[in-house]
Amino acid sequence: MNGKAFPSYDPHAIEARRQAAWRERDAFVTPPVERERPRRYIKPSAPFTSGNIHIGHVRSYSIGDAYARFQRARGEDVLFAFGFDAFGLPAELGAIDRGEAPSDWVARCAEHMTGQLLRLGYSFDWERTFMSSDAQMYRWSQWLFVTLLRAGLVYRGTGVVDWCDTCQTTLATIQVEDGECWRCHNPVRLIERPTWYLRISAHVPENDRQLAELAESGRWDEVALSSQRFVLGRVDGVEVDLSAADGTRLSVFTPHVDALEAARFVLISPKHPEIDAWAGDPQVRAQLEELRSSGLQRSSRDAAAIGLIDTGRTLPAPAGGGSLPVLISPGVDGRFGATAVFGVPEHDRTDETIAERLQDLLGDSDPGARPQPTASATSDTEPPNGATASDGAAGPPRPAVRYKAEDFSISRQRSWGTPIPIVYCEGDCGIVPVPLEQLPVALPLDLVPTGAGNPLAERADFVHTTCPACGGPARRETDTLDCHFDALWLWVPVCVPPAERERPLDEILALEDLRAWLPCERVVAGSDSGNFVFDQRIVTKALRDIGPLAFLADGEPFAGCLFHEMVISDGRKMSKHLGNVVDPDALVERYGADTVRLAVLYAARPQKTLNWSDSAVLRAHRFLTQVWEFSRSRMLADPPPTVVEQAADEAPVRDKTEHLRLKLAQWCEKAAEKITEDMQGLEMHSAVRNVMRLFDRIRDFEKRVLAREQELSAADHEALLDALGVLAQLLEPLAPHVAQELWIALGNDGDTQTPWPGVSSPVPA
Ligand SMILES: [Zn+2]
Ligand SMILES: [Zn+2]
Repeated sequence: MNGKAFPSYDPHAIEARRQAAWRERDAFVTPPVERERPRRYIKPSAPFTSGNIHIGHVRSYSIGDAYARFQRARGEDVLFAFGFDAFGLPAELGAIDRGEAPSDWVARCAEHMTGQLLRLGYSFDWERTFMSSDAQMYRWSQWLFVTLLRAGLVYRGTGVVDWCDTCQTTLATIQVEDGECWRCHNPVRLIERPTWYLRISAHVPENDRQLAELAESGRWDEVALSSQRFVLGRVDGVEVDLSAADGTRLSVFTPHVDALEAARFVLISPKHPEIDAWAGDPQVRAQLEELRSSGLQRSSRDAAAIGLIDTGRTLPAPAGGGSLPVLISPGVDGRFGATAVFGVPEHDRTDETIAERLQDLLGDSDPGARPQPTASATSDTEPPNGATASDGAAGPPRPAVRYKAEDFSISRQRSWGTPIPIVYCEGDCGIVPVPLEQLPVALPLDLVPTGAGNPLAERADFVHTTCPACGGPARRETDTLDCHFDALWLWVPVCVPPAERERPLDEILALEDLRAWLPCERVVAGSDSGNFVFDQRIVTKALRDIGPLAFLADGEPFAGCLFHEMVISDGRKMSKHLGNVVDPDALVERYGADTVRLAVLYAARPQKTLNWSDSAVLRAHRFLTQVWEFSRSRMLADPPPTVVEQAADEAPVRDKTEHLRLKLAQWCEKAAEKITEDMQGLEMHSAVRNVMRLFDRIRDFEKRVLAREQELSAADHEALLDALGVLAQLLEPLAPHVAQELWIALGNDGDTQTPWPGVSSPVPA
């Protein structure tokens, strides 16, 4: 082909040009909700401000961005933005490391990461992006705390934490190395201290019930669904109402439905709501306190070592024939949640081990034969099943469910976090929540933590305040919220236009925007986000019941959810230590952003772990180079001579290539159909393969024409360019820069969103 000179594939020039054009026309700004168009909120994960975008982020955002671009091309209004998860321990440790204020450290991290993401060409609405550590944003976490507290869903309890006497601070698990403090290397001990908890139990069964519907919708992938089942930890079985001789009642659960007669003891969680009724004896009470302060939180799964307390009391055996000793053990929680269960040694290895220990504990060869401690001996002779739950009796078993998912602590003794909007009145008011209209309780930004003490507690200007109830002196709570709590609301503020963010909270909650964008159409996040998503689903249900999210009738924040697996290298998790870290910046520098994005999409299904290899990058780069060079040379080729108009009386010249052109058009149509399906199902790896196949067929068309004729006719040439146009349209969500340049080179408008094949009018930006 006698082509003119054409520029060779220069990804850096192409990408700089496209990115400048996108910036210029605000290409990815979220459309106003007044527009009557289908709307999709596509939620990427909220990155920790760790300092660097890693290859796992690239995988995640390349999938989400392809989906966002595909939906825009189809004429839908898209919201695609995130908030940086800027609070928390990693950021605090990063700041300590550098001896600077965490606010400065996270600001620099976010700036650097934003630069990396921009260079990769993701179509985020940057105007809506925010930091969770901005007071304007964390006031929402404080609002959520007070709202849930008033509804009884946040409560104050006791937790056990690691404590360093030298540093006078609590430590996170990762700060304890072999029982020593990470900072001073002195031994660490466990202490009990007050902490705030989120009550999830009220909404856990609904999270379970909704799963069937989410699965049926087809918009939750299997990895996401199984993560929800895992967090839920559902166990099916039966429960029996038992009454002790003194009338104390207890519902006892077992998954061993057909083995009630094999029950030998009853285990109660120390967190059971009715535990006090079973720990009345002063000695038992003391043992329970001891158990709690010695690390209840880290309840070992080791049945041979786990705490075990004999309450000295019994319940009637559910199938008759004796009574069962009642024991307290934190081992229940990890298996069935904070409940009471039967010990069935015949059917359960853990129970078998406990039964062996029981013989020592009770000094009794058959615990099942233990006499009732009270004078009433009626229960032993009462009929087991079908009996009414009278004193010392067992009710009939009924189907029951238990969940391992349980309430969790939401506060930390850390200075880099959302201040908890609570004051402790020095008068008579006790614990007083800060009124909503006084939010935010601002975090001093000039704190420089060192890892010792609690810098927030040392700030008199922060600690001393007035009681909102009586106006007398009061002290502020100096624990902060765990960043997991911030994440419970972090997915909502991007729905609000930046210009509205300063408004009072109740006005923002009344904005049409929340109703317009929620529920979020699709979450795209790593498979380790199961806990976040589970708790976000819980809190959405709570806020539906309380009112602010009442418009989400089913309490589900996410209509669809895709969880992708991680990127590993040489079959192992990437780590600096192993020297197998893939650096996205270096790859972008060498091959360009389009190649890196295409490679991560091409290399594996989202649901599969991506074992990194350079071959995917080389394959993607070769493909884009070939597409560019083939397309540009054909576009710039001298147009073939126009076929001379034939006189009416002449026999028409047979068009020998018409059937090839028809075939090519069919291929294009088929490819568009398949790739549309791929994109709807977020099967981007399949979409890439189908784009590659279409390119092969386009080249094949040219080869076949040339095998028949000396050169392409005008009609053949036009058909070839049309097909290349379809290729550019289909490639755009996957490798947006190069695809858009080709689309423009074909004579199309570069100032609007490239439409998807079959979508008639270009979409105004
Ligand atoms: Zn220390
Ligand atoms: Zn007061």
